[in-house]
Amino acid sequence: MATTPASQTPMMKQYHEAKAAAGDALLLFRMGDFYELFLEDAKVAARVLGLSLTSRDKGDRDKGKEPVAMAGFPHHQLDSYLAKIISSGLRAAVCEQVEDPKQAKGLVKRDITRIVSRGTVTDDALLDPHASNYLLAIAPANMDSHGLAWIDISTGLFEAAELPASRLGDELARVAPVEILLAEDAQDLPAEWTEGRMVTRRPGWAFGEQAATGVLTKHFGTHSLEGFGFTQQQSPALQAAGAVLDYLHETQKTSLAHIDRLLPYHVGTRLEIDEATRRSLEITQTLRDGRREGSLLGVIDRTVTSTGARLLGDWLANPLTQSSTINARLDAVGEFFEHASLTRELREALRATYDMQRLLARVTTGRATPRDLSFVARTLHCLPEIKEKLSNRHSTRLQTLEDNLDLCQDVRDRLEAALEDNCPLSSREGGFIRPGYHSELDTQRNLLQGGKQWMAQYQAEAIKSTGIPTIKVGFNRVFGYYLEVTHAHRDKVPADYIRKQTLKNAERYITPELKEYEEKVLSAEEKCLDLEYEIFIELRELVAAAAVRLQETATALAEVDVFASLAELARARNYVRPQIVEESLLHIVDGRHPVLDLTEDEGTFVPNGVHCAGNLFGGASGEAASTDEPDASVLLITGPNMAGKSTYIRQVALITLMGQMGSFVPAREARIGIADRIFARVGASDDLARGRSTFMVEMTETARILNTATERSLVILDEIGRGTSTYDGLSLAWAIVEYMHDQIGCRTLFATHYHELTRLDKTLSRVANHNVAVQEWEDQVVFLHQIVPGAADKSYGIHVAQLAGVPQQVNQRAKEILNHLETQPGDQKAESSSHRMVGESILRRDPSHEQAQGASQRTAPGNGQSLQLTLFETSEHPLLEKIRALDLNTKTPLELQQLVCQWQDQLVEDVVVRKST
Ligand code: ADP
Repeated sequence: MATTPASQTPMMKQYHEAKAAAGDALLLFRMGDFYELFLEDAKVAARVLGLSLTSRDKGDRDKGKEPVAMAGFPHHQLDSYLAKIISSGLRAAVCEQVEDPKQAKGLVKRDITRIVSRGTVTDDALLDPHASNYLLAIAPANMDSHGLAWIDISTGLFEAAELPASRLGDELARVAPVEILLAEDAQDLPAEWTEGRMVTRRPGWAFGEQAATGVLTKHFGTHSLEGFGFTQQQSPALQAAGAVLDYLHETQKTSLAHIDRLLPYHVGTRLEIDEATRRSLEITQTLRDGRREGSLLGVIDRTVTSTGARLLGDWLANPLTQSSTINARLDAVGEFFEHASLTRELREALRATYDMQRLLARVTTGRATPRDLSFVARTLHCLPEIKEKLSNRHSTRLQTLEDNLDLCQDVRDRLEAALEDNCPLSSREGGFIRPGYHSELDTQRNLLQGGKQWMAQYQAEAIKSTGIPTIKVGFNRVFGYYLEVTHAHRDKVPADYIRKQTLKNAERYITPELKEYEEKVLSAEEKCLDLEYEIFIELRELVAAAAVRLQETATALAEVDVFASLAELARARNYVRPQIVEESLLHIVDGRHPVLDLTEDEGTFVPNGVHCAGNLFGGASGEAASTDEPDASVLLITGPNMAGKSTYIRQVALITLMGQMGSFVPAREARIGIADRIFARVGASDDLARGRSTFMVEMTETARILNTATERSLVILDEIGRGTSTYDGLSLAWAIVEYMHDQIGCRTLFATHYHELTRLDKTLSRVANHNVAVQEWEDQVVFLHQIVPGAADKSYGIHVAQLAGVPQQVNQRAKEILNHLETQPGDQKAESSSHRMVGESILRRDPSHEQAQGASQRTAPGNGQSLQLTLFETSEHPLLEKIRALDLNTKTPLELQQLVCQWQDQLVEDVVVRKST
């Protein structure tokens, strides 16, 4: 007889068909109580999931059958294995038995019921309750722009835009998708953009214009997408959106009713924060380990629901730029701020609600459990109280939210009438529908109940009729109901008992009567389970049909939670409502760093103010009016290391960002001019983690600011120029400040240890010097962390060196050099506006002095030696005059080349002469 290779049995044929449909996903093939993986998938699973690798039909190798590699796990562990699969950057196709094995004729029918990847999960066990979970698609439009669309399937928030290619990295940082869809033939994205994200390649046609419009209009049931605010010209955005939806339909295999609209994302309505700034300001995650804890979001989050926590994260990642919308949020926070007890009660009520957004996503994707439905019911139960507390509010935003809060009474009534208080996770277990809800179910349950009573009565009668006092009715899966008689009474057993099983001490019998009743009971039990399942599906569909209303309610709850939590934070930490203005102003009195203020010991953080204005709006803004001088646009902050410069400039950026998000801010008073962009850059030496040439990175990022900042932007620069040699760095920093001041005119805070830059306030009208106050006390340096006007007293660096044990001789010499630098006439040169550039700075000893002392001998400190040190060279090099006098038109290229050669030689000679003198 011909044998069938193991890989070609009917079941394996079914497996291969499913595997072909699953593509690159690991196929989890349900077999009885297990999910099995075969062949290559099994090997991957063994490696990634730690499953033991076995093989199917290995015993048949002798008969010529090829064993099939296999690995598996029990069905109830599905969630934990799915979590491992998606966190390893893989995807899984779940292939279920879609008919009852008992009723199946031949092989049980199996189908892929869903494909799970990081961007498409809806299960609570696989999601972080506090983080949004975005799936994003990129559709290339042309060389200069891209269509982008992103969705959080758990909230149904679906947005699309066409954006310049240069913004792609920043948008990825803003949306922070967990999974990115790219066309098959699209170029790879740079590795740093996809770090920690899953990239899924989709067929090119899915991004096609026609396919995309088709899938979108079909899903939304519309003729076009104009109703959502999209025009024909925005086709790349729609192409990306189409690719997203097509992927979701393919993987979820359900209607996705809760995704009911696609929103056009308008650039300019949100504060632009590029990727480097997000990282540097640690807005939603820390720089060191990418965690939420310790970030701005982590410390300000006082929400009581996970929907609220996610919304707060989205708001903080996307601060606003329109005063009307910012003020609408501030009004809402302000109203809660003023009504402490109302806010407390609302927060209490919200605490009892469940994550309705994610519950709904499971409902509409057909994966909700009876327990999920009961959680929807419990949440709906909380609504009247919440709505009542929101009534009669003054803020228009709170009024709108109250309006949007649909009590969904019809849904609630049905769910509450139908569902028991404690519902199971499995819809097949039964026992979760209340008595009285469904009459047929009640009848079957009575029958079941009655059947059990009948058994008890039957047992009593059997005892009586046989005279066997120990006769018992029992049940097992193999024979069903039976009568058990101990051997001692064997001879009293009536003739019509049919023996079924012999045990050590007893015999088991059945009777026709028992069998007849058994059938009734068992079928009632099965009917009950079937009926409960049917009712469950009805209820789930009822909720799915109300998905859009419920979604709106869930979003309103989240927003109320965010407002209440911001109010709670503001009260607890003494925040103030910022005044939002259109002018490019920044006026903060006693501001605090929102993170350090919360993490340092209470009362130890030293508050600091700021006052500056962009050039355009400079004028005398009021606060500086008494002096009639224009407000500074560039603040230079100097001071020793660890004095608090970085903290201060970051604090200013974070306060601005919080204000534009619609939050109160940690300050006594704040007037914030809406910024269009915030940039934060840290000098290369402070940012060693990234591995690339750090100075190159620093300069690339700086270039980006210089090219894109506008007078409405806020720029904070921390030790820029530090990553190269001192004079290079100083010159660059100098030129950058000039450019920010003259060409951009935006609000700029520049923390620097280049003390020379403080001279810029003499030549640039809108530069102001600030420093961090330091106090000397009994030979100790105390950092006061207080920002005061004026340039830092440089000697603290030397003072610190002294405290650190640097030899006295070195310190003394350093002081002399310093004194000299400070009193040099070169200052005047730097101050004259026609010579702003630092140029080549030369620091050298006076040759005559060195000759007197002997070139190799170090001068003893304090013996009155005179040093000729110049930072800004005062006498001009003779070559410059020659260059000026040169008439280019009279020289051939060759002559010019020879001239340059001569000059070079002369320069080299100069250096040699200097070194040898
Ligand atoms: P710098 O940039 O001048 O080197 P940092 O801003 O990094 O200094 O501050 C160093 C440390 O000083 C911070 O980690 C913080 O602990 C403390 N610090 C800074 N500013 C303040 C402040 N305003 N109040 C209290 N402590 C502060």
